[in-house]
Amino acid sequence: MIDEDWRTQFIDFIKEFKLPPHVDPKSVEAARITRHSKGFVLVGDNLYKRSTSGILMKCVTLEEGKDILREIHEGVCGNHAASRTLVDKAYRSGFFWPTAVSNAEDLVRWCPGCQFFGKKTHVTAHNLITIPPSWPFACWSLDMIGPFTVAPVGFNHVLVSRQVHQVDRVQAHCQDLIR
Ligand SMILES: [Zn+2]
Repeated sequence: MIDEDWRTQFIDFIKEFKLPPHVDPKSVEAARITRHSKGFVLVGDNLYKRSTSGILMKCVTLEEGKDILREIHEGVCGNHAASRTLVDKAYRSGFFWPTAVSNAEDLVRWCPGCQFFGKKTHVTAHNLITIPPSWPFACWSLDMIGPFTVAPVGFNHVLVSRQVHQVDRVQAHCQDLIR
C-alpha cells in the first residue's frame, strides 16, 4: 500500500523508528517497511535511495516521477523511447520512485504519438524474395510425415530431411518411400 507521499513512512522510520499509525508493529507491512528502509538514506530532510552502484538517487513523489518520465519520453529531447529505456534513463539521472516501471508502461501504452507512429514500416509491400543457399547443404529442411502402416521394425513415421533447393528430387524419393 503506497501512501500519498510514499517517502514519509521511510523518513519517519529512519529518523525515529516510527511506523505509520495504521500499521501493526508485528504485521507483514511493518516488516516490509523495516526491510526496505535499509535501502534508503536520509541527507538532511531529503530521502535518497542507495543504488547498486553506490550512487544516491533522489527520491521524488509519484507525480514528480511521472513528470520526469513524460519529459524523457515526449519532452524537448524526447524520442518516444520504450518503457524500460525510460526507467533506465530516469534512474541513471539520479531519481527514484517505486512505481517507475508501471508508470513508464502506462505512459507508453497511452501515448498518442506511439500509437499512431510506432512500429510503422516504411517499406512498400512486395512479394517474398527467396534467398538461394550459399553452398551445397547449407540449408536443410526437416519434416515429419505419417502416420503410415506400422513397419516390421515398429516405426510408422518418416523424418524427411532435404536440402532446400532439391525439392523435386526429394519429393520423388518420398513418394517411393510411401508406396
Ligand atoms: Zn510516445
